[in-house]
Amino acid sequence: MSDAGVTAKQTLLRALPAVDELMRQDAVARGSAGLPAPLVAQAVREALADVRADVLREKAASDTGAFGNTTHAQARRVVAKAAEALSPDGSEEAKSEATSGATSVHRLAERAALKRLAALRRSLLGRVVNGTGVILHTNLGRAPLSKRALQAVADVSRGYSNLEYDVPSGRRGLRDLHGETLLTALTGAEAALVVNNNAAAVLLVLSALAEGREVVLSRGEMIEIGGAFRIPEVMEQSGAILKEVGTTNRTHLTDYENALGEDTGAILKVHPSNYKVVGFTAQVDAQALAPLARHHGVPLIEDLGSGVLVSTQKYGLAPEPTVQSRIAAGIDVVTFSGDKLLGGPQAGIIVGTKAFIEACRRHPLARALRVDKMTLAALQATLLDYLDDNHKSIPIYEMMGATIPSLRERTEAIVEKVREAAASAGGPAIDIRIVDTQSTVGGGSLPEETLPSVALALRGSGGSAEGLAEALRLGQPAIVGRVEGDTVLLDLRTIAPEDDAPLADALVKLHE
Ligand SMILES: *Cc1c(COP(=O)(O)O)cnc(C)c1O
Repeated sequence: MSDAGVTAKQTLLRALPAVDELMRQDAVARGSAGLPAPLVAQAVREALADVRADVLREKAASDTGAFGNTTHAQARRVVAKAAEALSPDGSEEAKSEATSGATSVHRLAERAALKRLAALRRSLLGRVVNGTGVILHTNLGRAPLSKRALQAVADVSRGYSNLEYDVPSGRRGLRDLHGETLLTALTGAEAALVVNNNAAAVLLVLSALAEGREVVLSRGEMIEIGGAFRIPEVMEQSGAILKEVGTTNRTHLTDYENALGEDTGAILKVHPSNYKVVGFTAQVDAQALAPLARHHGVPLIEDLGSGVLVSTQKYGLAPEPTVQSRIAAGIDVVTFSGDKLLGGPQAGIIVGTKAFIEACRRHPLARALRVDKMTLAALQATLLDYLDDNHKSIPIYEMMGATIPSLRERTEAIVEKVREAAASAGGPAIDIRIVDTQSTVGGGSLPEETLPSVALALRGSGGSAEGLAEALRLGQPAIVGRVEGDTVLLDLRTIAPEDDAPLADALVKLHE
């Protein structure tokens, strides 16, 4: 078949569509919606090169019997078929299929283009509908911002701002000042500083207050928070020396007392955000350590993680220590995230005693970890919602406060819309039902705590739940659900009401 094989390849390569022709194909045009044209053209050119290489490599690969990828294996089948059709002793049936080789190669090109476009889309930041029921989903960007915060970002960033300018005097001002007034009013602390995230806050505090000195930490608090944030490693990076006390499950006041000495630079408490120690346990509350720290003249630092300002119990969740309660308890420096239970932008917030915050501000790392005006604007607007007694309008609290009847009503409206569309399309392509489910807070906060919720349960006719979940993820907008057994669950609690219509449309599209 070697001569026929060569001819077949040439025929197939000639049959490959041109770049602009492939770009205009329905599936490819859909797959490239909203993507920048030059990058789409490049992706399509690369896809055609992939197919060309696959078709040409087919000979060598068939000699060795090695097929590295599925496109390649498909290319081999297409070439083999075309070769048979073109060979002088090929069957009549095969000859009549000679044109189907061209069709197949078009399909190969289309598939390769969609693969390249999916990779391009993956590399761009874009919006996602969160149907997972995890409110602070770290992979999906944690806290969504309020309309007020978004407006503030636009107002401050559209033109110029007083970011580092003192308007009354017309002189240079302090970037650090923004946020401080509101943060001290809300938490009762003397001073505040905002950096890039809480990991940066912990690094800066340890560097500024305890570099080269010992930091006393309970073995029960040597934790890892998702990704690469591990307390002992951050400590090492800061130049502070870890002084472990107590045991994994139990640490007593005497353990701290015995560890404090001339080399002590600070006492650190870390809130076990994302895990629970149960059973025979004992930890010393930071409040009990305050007199000890004062006696030795070292700062008592607490990494609170989530940093909540309101009662989580009002939302039917376990209590979390509020920032203001920790300041009132005499902790010198408290750090927390801006985008966890505060419900604002990614930020690391440091509040505490003036002298310690000033030391952080002066440390060279502070410049490297500083935040942009957009962050400060969004944070300020979020804090103003708390000061205006309006925290319920912060999206994560809207989600936590959504009632079961309101969630049920929304699911019913979506189901009705989808069933009507399915009926007119000649029958349901997916089975859609309303089920009770449980949402979680996520973001390394309130482990094992759940909120009762309502979800859409989707089941495809035939295909797997994973396949259906993938189809939803690849749509526009991307919808991320939770696969449980043979169903895909879309929890309405984490879906903004204004996304109900696009969600219903996406479900209707599954019937087309
Ligand atoms: C989440 C968390 C961090 C990390 O905060 P980021 O804002 O994500 O950097 C650090 N410490 C604790 C206890 C946390 O819960």
